[in-house]
Amino acid sequence: VTATPQPPITELDDIFISVKTTKNYHDTRLALIIKTWFQLARDQTWFFTDTDDAYYQEKTKGHLINTNCSQGHFQEALCCKMSAELDVFLASGKKWFCHFDDDNYVNVPRLVKLLDEYSPSVDWYLGKPSIFSPLEIHLDSYPTTTHKNKTASEKISFWFATGGAGFCLSRALTMKMLPIAGGGKFISIGRKIRFPDDVTMGFIIEHLLKVPLRIVENFHSHLEPMEHIRPDTFPDQVSFSYAHMRNQWNVVKVDGFDLAKDPKRFYSLHCKLFPYFSFCPPR
Ligand code: UDP
Ligand code: MN
Repeated sequence: VTATPQPPITELDDIFISVKTTKNYHDTRLALIIKTWFQLARDQTWFFTDTDDAYYQEKTKGHLINTNCSQGHFQEALCCKMSAELDVFLASGKKWFCHFDDDNYVNVPRLVKLLDEYSPSVDWYLGKPSIFSPLEIHLDSYPTTTHKNKTASEKISFWFATGGAGFCLSRALTMKMLPIAGGGKFISIGRKIRFPDDVTMGFIIEHLLKVPLRIVENFHSHLEPMEHIRPDTFPDQVSFSYAHMRNQWNVVKVDGFDLAKDPKRFYSLHCKLFPYFSFCPPR
């Protein structure tokens, strides 16, 4: 009897989930993640921050990594964290690298199901842009092969997956990135093009490696109106987010706990998806 070849099966344990955070957000954003979706992927999720924090080190069972990157929402600090995330993933031997921000809710079983549809040995850059056309940038001092000594000004364009929606890279793709962006080189590339971490990722993957972004609509950042996500589709979404802008919350519209107790709606969303969770009301 000959066995029919099966596509590789992806399990939760094949995935490295990294979350970028910062000292100032530990008590707010990190705490919320730990109480909700982290409980479904405790062994697979790692938090990349910029300080030591014994309290959250304990809460995450040792999964808080102090990158020693500087605190602050600027290009160098953000690329420093992404570089650390990538390097820890490369050393982990896992099949998939998935990055999220600390204001993302990750629907863990849906993420596993998504990656199960793809092969980790094929180059995959899965995510969702938040602009409607490729980003156009001018590379003024990036050394090109054709103009070694000149500062060539070159206009290039590429897509990038919004970091705040989350994105995933296959092991095969990250192995191609290793010689150019591994071991901290991600930071130098970011510094050269002077763009944030998610743009730098798109530049490396789409422009340098010529691997196209595969758009997955199920990732969501707070650049989209969260209330547009229909409740009957919640189980099919990979990520959600929230933001407080101009005195208004952009949050998932979901019944559940009252707004005072759950302004970001993550507890309510979590109970919609996993109604038997400890803190959810009896049904
Ligand atoms: N962040 C960081 N250092 C900072 C500020 C933010 O690492 O000083 C991280 C934050 O934890 C989050 C991401 O960067 O994962 C995006 O931050 P935020 O949501 O505040 O801003 P946005 O870019 O979404 O407007
Ligand atoms: Mn954000």
